[in-house]
Amino acid sequence: MTLNLDDRTQYRDHCVDQFVGRHLPKVSPSEYDSAVIAGNGIGAQVFAAQLAKHPQFAGKVTIVAPPLVESRRLINGVSLRGLAADFISYALGIDHSTLLEVIAGRGNTPVAYRQTASMAVRGRDGVRFTHRATWHGSRGNGRSEPVIYGVRNSRLVGGIRELLTDSSVRFIDEKVSSRDHLRGFAAGDKPLLVNATTIPSLLGTTVGKPKQLVLAVQAPLMPSSLKEPAEAATAFAPLIRREGIIDVGYITPFSDPESPRSTWYGIIARVVDADSGFDKEREHRIMVEELEGVAAGMGLTMDDPEETLAKALVPASPWGKIPPSQPGTLDLKRMYSGGAPCYYADGMVSSAIGGVVGAQAIVTGNDPDTAIRNALRPYRWHNFLWWIETTKIPLLADMLMRVSVRTAMAYPHSAGLRLWRSAA
Ligand SMILES: Cc1cc2nc3c(=O)[nH]c(=O)nc-3n(C[C@H](O)[C@H](O)[C@H](O)COP(=O)(O)OP(=O)(O)OC[C@H]3O[C@@H](n4cnc5c(N)ncnc54)[C@H](O)[C@@H]3O)c2cc1C
Repeated sequence: MTLNLDDRTQYRDHCVDQFVGRHLPKVSPSEYDSAVIAGNGIGAQVFAAQLAKHPQFAGKVTIVAPPLVESRRLINGVSLRGLAADFISYALGIDHSTLLEVIAGRGNTPVAYRQTASMAVRGRDGVRFTHRATWHGSRGNGRSEPVIYGVRNSRLVGGIRELLTDSSVRFIDEKVSSRDHLRGFAAGDKPLLVNATTIPSLLGTTVGKPKQLVLAVQAPLMPSSLKEPAEAATAFAPLIRREGIIDVGYITPFSDPESPRSTWYGIIARVVDADSGFDKEREHRIMVEELEGVAAGMGLTMDDPEETLAKALVPASPWGKIPPSQPGTLDLKRMYSGGAPCYYADGMVSSAIGGVVGAQAIVTGNDPDTAIRNALRPYRWHNFLWWIETTKIPLLADMLMRVSVRTAMAYPHSAGLRLWRSAA
């Protein structure tokens, strides 16, 4: 069946409706008359957009956060799963093309319909790739569901804000310092206080220190003389085994209006135990070399790295149980975060799903903590298995990748296609 754009959007929205409904067992009146949200990332804005669509919350949803400063540097996640675009578009009431026009620029669709992978081996003459094979999507069989879009995160966040301009969501440009401070911005008498910031304790909950950390380097890439394994509309995951861990690379089509020469983007990510005594500067230096080497092997070079290259060190969240939100509050970011960010392209899809499911749970009188955690359980599970493969059995994973990429990537990666690609 060939779907035209409107039919595709309707079908995507229908699939989101069905998914959300599965996680909301009851329908009863909401105990809140308004919501005030600290933070203005993807999760915060999607939650606000979805909540504000309901008449009882119209004009009573407030976002409080320091104003977004966009820069060319690729500070946060770039690889947006097709399914994430389904949920963001659903909350905003738009289609993928409208979203992409705002975040990637008119006429640019930085999309991958297919994903491939191989091991990448560093040597004196540069990086060599082992046999590459497809683990998501396929060539030439007519399927056209987007699996990944490559966009700059700060443009995505800024673009969502622009798309919310005519909505009833109120924005206040201020940093929140405490629960009482946040409550002061509420537009109702019985507000829900929402924490979607990077500060887990903002509303008073005590959380433990992270056990794992993720190191990552990423930059936009310009094609010079594109060559295998670079391929149109295809994302490529080069895996590099180094010092007992697999560094996960990801190279994908990309578009950023501020870096128009870069039609590709690349990241290298590595998960380490927080107490392993790693040397951050050394790791970042090696990972930049890895990214340069992989890029060169594909006929790509970094675009103005002094302005665009990001070196990150971010905490992983627990895969298992986490403390609940306190009464009258929703620790939204804690609920939708699970596992190691940066290296499985699952951060943005989790915040988009968490935002929609969380808002619908509030409107229907369901417990948002339970609804969000249940909805995202498969994502945490896949992230956990990826961590096992890359840090606990890297030698076995490497050997299997050389024998058969399809077998090595069968579960959970290929089997989890529905957690990646758009519904239509
Ligand atoms: C290097 C890197 C690579 C990544 N790669 C990917 C990828 O390929 N794919 C993917 O899906 N995800 C990826 N991620 C994860 C992804 O970036 C995030 O999961 C995603 O951006 C969602 O963020 P968020 O909506 O939770 O909000 P965030 O972007 O974390 O926003 C939190 C907001 O809170 C605000 N804030 C902080 N303190 C306060 C305060 N006191 N008061 C008010 N506001 C406050 C900040 O201004 C910020 O805007 C990556 C992350 C990193 C760091």
